[in-house]
Amino acid sequence: MTFRKVWISEGCIACNLCQDLVPEIFEVPPGSTSRTKKGHEKLLERNPLLDERIQEAVDSCPVEVIHAEQK
Ligand code: SF4
Repeated sequence: MTFRKVWISEGCIACNLCQDLVPEIFEVPPGSTSRTKKGHEKLLERNPLLDERIQEAVDSCPVEVIHAEQK
């Protein structure tokens, strides 16, 4: 399993969980909702070891708005 793209759909409640789990990919700016960091696709290519934590974020998001596309 290798993810090539990660995104967040509407409905994030800014609980910060994804940022805590994978700070390389997710950021929750103060007063805003979660977003993926700019250039995260390149990081995914270079760091397949991130996949496990990304899957954990997908599975743990309380409102199930994190999506990840496999290669
Ligand atoms: S885990 Fe889900 S609800 Fe929490 S900050 Fe991330 S995207 Fe938003």
